[in-house]
Amino acid sequence: NLTEKFDTVFKKLRGRGRLSEENIKDALREVRLVLLEADVNFRVVKDFIAAVRDRALGQDVLKSLTPAQQVIKIVREELARLMGEGEANALDLAARPPVPVMLCGLQGAGKTTTCGKLALSLRRQKRNPLLVPADIYRPAAIEQLKTVGRQINVEVFDSQPGQDPVKICEAARAYAELNGFDTLILDTAGRLHIDSELMQELVRIRDSLEPREILFVADAMTGQDAVNVAESFNQVLDISGVILTKLDGDARGGAALSIRAVTGKPIKLVGMGEKLDALEVFHPDRMAQRILGMGDVLSLIEKAQSVVETEDAARMEAQLRKDGFTLETFRDQLQMIKKMGSMEGLLKMIPGAGKAMKQMKGMQPPDQEMKKIEAIINSMTRRERHDHRILNGSRRQRIARGSGTTVQDVNQLIKRFSEAQKMMKKMQKMGPKGLKGMMRG
Ligand code: GDP
Ligand code: MG
Repeated sequence: NLTEKFDTVFKKLRGRGRLSEENIKDALREVRLVLLEADVNFRVVKDFIAAVRDRALGQDVLKSLTPAQQVIKIVREELARLMGEGEANALDLAARPPVPVMLCGLQGAGKTTTCGKLALSLRRQKRNPLLVPADIYRPAAIEQLKTVGRQINVEVFDSQPGQDPVKICEAARAYAELNGFDTLILDTAGRLHIDSELMQELVRIRDSLEPREILFVADAMTGQDAVNVAESFNQVLDISGVILTKLDGDARGGAALSIRAVTGKPIKLVGMGEKLDALEVFHPDRMAQRILGMGDVLSLIEKAQSVVETEDAARMEAQLRKDGFTLETFRDQLQMIKKMGSMEGLLKMIPGAGKAMKQMKGMQPPDQEMKKIEAIINSMTRRERHDHRILNGSRRQRIARGSGTTVQDVNQLIKRFSEAQKMMKKMQKMGPKGLKGMMRG
């Protein structure tokens, strides 16, 4: 996957003390291959590499004490820029209610699920959404949206299979006006491939409802295909943004990287799982960090904040700031994560945990692994938790006995943890936008 490949390229770069122009050019050639292999659009790659090369060779990178770090930083910043860093990506719902939001995309992209996620998220922002089933071709589609609506306790407008989708949307708007709904979420039909009949239908819905947001829902797993389809939808519908789904899967990266550059439209939200609370705001810089394998600590903290009492989250943040990333803060984070379900998605956000996940695969389910990790950390003294470097052989033996695990288990955890800690430190050194600066922001 993309992250691992970047890791390999940068490892070579880091291995050298000083860098020559040749070193940088070599590294960029490899970055280029990595991106092309990840199915990133050719034109996008070309511009990207040119931008990084200009910055890497033009500045004082070679003279700096940490040239490899500088190059990686430039790559990260350019990746973020490619994905729309610095733009306001939030949904724009500032209009007279009911505000229509239209979701469109191919069949299976995740429209219906995302409609539910969006409704739930708007509800949490104290809005009052109405779900509108405008996919009338498969009776099951309306049923599916109704099921979603029931799960999150959001009303689904009553429509019948076979009705004209434009009429349904218009009736839903009238109903919303009468009943105090402030947002209409339109779940439109998809096809397996782009087809002009469907496009015409979507254009008619758009022209009648004039949605404030027209969001193209793209399946991140389909890579470059998703980008091409997004471009077609954009040409016909002039979309306002993209929701990238299934970013919890393996094939992340490619589509996220080119979709903004190819369509000129921002990725606004990302789907991180099948559950209806698995929708997140898209942060280009964090995505860039994630692609580069540094873990997405910030999204993790944000997620923690939305689920855990704010008090807890504030305490955790203060502790992180005061003590840094220690085994104790690590354990507290894990305990919060446990309250939140979806272990795998969250684990990926912890620096270093991506690799750990891989090691764990086929061994034990993460939940069991979590209990083990917790038991081990609990068996440590406070001092040990604050400074794992003092954990010598006899301490490790004592901890293994106390936690009902083996010395290997203890060793493995400490190894993993210290890798994660190193990465955190690296992130903090990455200038004013490092972890600390960002955590305050
Ligand atoms: P639609 O045909 O575009 O309406 O797609 P659906 O909403 O029916 O979703 C198709 C499948 O993708 C379903 O099995 C969903 O559970 C799944 N899905 C949707 N979003 C996500 C996501 O963000 N992550 C994962 N893993 N699955 C998703
Ligand atoms: Mg659907």
